[in-house]
Amino acid sequence: MTADANIHIPKEGMPRDDVLQRLQQFKEGDANYKDSRTWSLVYYLGEEHTRFLEDAFNMYMSENALNPMAFQSLRRFEHEVVRMTADLLGGDEDVVGTMTSGGTESCLLPVIAYRDRAASKFSLRSRAPEMIVPESVHVAWEKAARYFGVKIVRAPLRDDMRVDVEAVKRRINRNTILLVASAPSYPHGVVDPIAELGALAEAHNLPLHVDSCLGGFMLPFVERLGYDVPPFDFRVPGVTSISADVHKYGYSAKGASVVLYRNMDYLKHQFFVYENWPGGIFISPALLGTRSGGAIAAAWASLQAIGMDGYVELARQVMDTTVALQQGIRSVPGLDVLGNPEMSVFAYGSSSKQVNVFAVADQMEQRGWLMDRLQRPAALHAMVTPLHKRIIDEFTADLADSVDYVTRHPRAAAKGNAALYGMMTKVPVRGLVKNEVRKMMEQMYGPHMKMPF
Ligand SMILES: *Cc1c(COP(=O)(O)O)cnc(C)c1O
Repeated sequence: MTADANIHIPKEGMPRDDVLQRLQQFKEGDANYKDSRTWSLVYYLGEEHTRFLEDAFNMYMSENALNPMAFQSLRRFEHEVVRMTADLLGGDEDVVGTMTSGGTESCLLPVIAYRDRAASKFSLRSRAPEMIVPESVHVAWEKAARYFGVKIVRAPLRDDMRVDVEAVKRRINRNTILLVASAPSYPHGVVDPIAELGALAEAHNLPLHVDSCLGGFMLPFVERLGYDVPPFDFRVPGVTSISADVHKYGYSAKGASVVLYRNMDYLKHQFFVYENWPGGIFISPALLGTRSGGAIAAAWASLQAIGMDGYVELARQVMDTTVALQQGIRSVPGLDVLGNPEMSVFAYGSSSKQVNVFAVADQMEQRGWLMDRLQRPAALHAMVTPLHKRIIDEFTADLADSVDYVTRHPRAAAKGNAALYGMMTKVPVRGLVKNEVRKMMEQMYGPHMKMPF
């Protein structure tokens, strides 16, 4: 596209119907989640639930949760979503929290809360605060480290992709303000050893945050189905806070997550108060200022409408599909699931030199799937949702075909996106990779929109 210079706000507004029609048209090139061709990004339950979420969202779209005093409806929904989530995650009445705009915000906020808590309680730890995270922790924690000046210290994973607790222990020093674990981790879908980390945190008088953005609205139901789910929530002594995304397996509209703390002694450090602003005495419970009431109302609505029985039933469908997909993947020569994931998120890769998984992903995309790629080790990724049950056979057959193609065409690994990903993930000088990717971003966000792929 080079005509960007001609993009202006139109002098005369277009008829609203025409605008809506154009919006609809622009969807055509987008990822096809409605036919379950994607493995992340949208947790789609079908049109009926989507219409319901839209109704709930639209009813409160204009209301603003900036001021908890002005819209008591929103304060109530937020309070009730927090309480329902606390109850689901083994919390008692002391557990408190806020809704946020998403998982990232629910990971950023504990870092600032614990940093300031350490500064107020232990002056030594505040000078050069450090947090210890598993290597597999979500990238939101890297973002928090950069935004808030907290040093991130990564602990390696064991062979089963769970963090090595001994390695975490060795990294604790007097600057440590926080331990973080995932339940489960985004890349491999495995739950870190939360009980052991809780004991470690207590022994060192440190807080432990469990990032359960993915699992918060899934693991409790998987547990009720009788699957083996290690304790990961407030039932574990030492766990001081948890993040859980309602807009993932809570099947709510995007823009809804919860961050919970064991009691107000932690949450109070998240609050922002500025008493000298000419605009008035300002309070803000979370990161954003203006917050659309839509996502808050839709989150409340989703929990109310689906209910515990509904979530357990959805979890049953998701787990049945996960088991079938994993069987299908393992039946393809050269492919295997990494580790032993507790729920419905997993990575699968290849131990065979002849099967380059990035080339397999390219083949799958030619067959109309949108594939998610991992690195260190190279693998593909699946986040299973209820409607994926429709595509188990087709997906598995396409995967077998793709692996067969790649095995017979070794040069596929040197072409297309496979070449790019292969190169990017293998370059030893990571700074070079970072610069290249930054350049791509500058193109994407430059004055002339250019998509790098
Ligand atoms: C999705 C996710 C996040 C970030 O959530 P967003 O809603 O994408 O901002 C953080 N941690 C984990 C474990 C996640 O799965």
